[in-house]
Amino acid sequence: MPERAIVLDAEGRTLSPCSVGKARRLVAQGRAERVREDPLTIRLTRAVALPEPTRPPAPPDHTGERLLLHICCGPCATFTVGHFRGLGYDVTGYWFGPNIHPYSEHERRREALEKLAAAIDLPVIWEPGYAMPAFLRLVADTPDRPARCRLCYRLRLAQTARAAAAGGFDAYSTTLLISPYQDLDAIGAIGEEEGAAHGVRFHYENLRSGFAAHHRLARAHGLYMQRYCGCLHSEWEGLRGKQGGAR
Ligand code: SF4
Repeated sequence: MPERAIVLDAEGRTLSPCSVGKARRLVAQGRAERVREDPLTIRLTRAVALPEPTRPPAPPDHTGERLLLHICCGPCATFTVGHFRGLGYDVTGYWFGPNIHPYSEHERRREALEKLAAAIDLPVIWEPGYAMPAFLRLVADTPDRPARCRLCYRLRLAQTARAAAAGGFDAYSTTLLISPYQDLDAIGAIGEEEGAAHGVRFHYENLRSGFAAHHRLARAHGLYMQRYCGCLHSEWEGLRGKQGGAR
């Protein structure tokens, strides 16, 4: 399948993806600006009239259920915690970031989550230590996307499912579901598999509609906002894109 580019409208809402060639033409014509090189993400310069949404079905009611939410970073937790609380869940955060490189970045993101948790009264289970060696061993022979990211998802979701089962939670989920840069199909499939393996339900939901709001919320809370996904590879990929996309 040809490579696709992520397309945002002028307000940051995610539209249907387009081919990389078309995305570059739109940028060259001044009809879009490049937000990120890898994966290629563009923002249209004009507003797009989206079709009127049909009335959505009433959201499921999870009142009384306990959810363990894997949290990749404070900014992604802003919207997702509010969303899951809105569904009735009693939400507990779960911090486990072996993929985050370097350690100083890991600590910066952890501190941002501490700040948010205090502000929104969110209990968090903090996985002690820094399992970076396990992550690096895991992806050593699989340095490229998308296979590398699938291994990374599984490492984090399996650990969260294990903790959710040990803590008697009704379900578990992840803040990764808000990101247009993550492979939601893979996260859904892996989340279900690990949930089944550990006897705890995975709550899957596409939360990308909250992506623009999460930026606003993160700014309102004064949270540190990172510029790359987390791993050494993603930092290099991001810098490489900024330096002209040399591959
Ligand atoms: S890019 Fe993100 S999801 Fe993929 S391996 Fe790196 S940290 Fe994990």
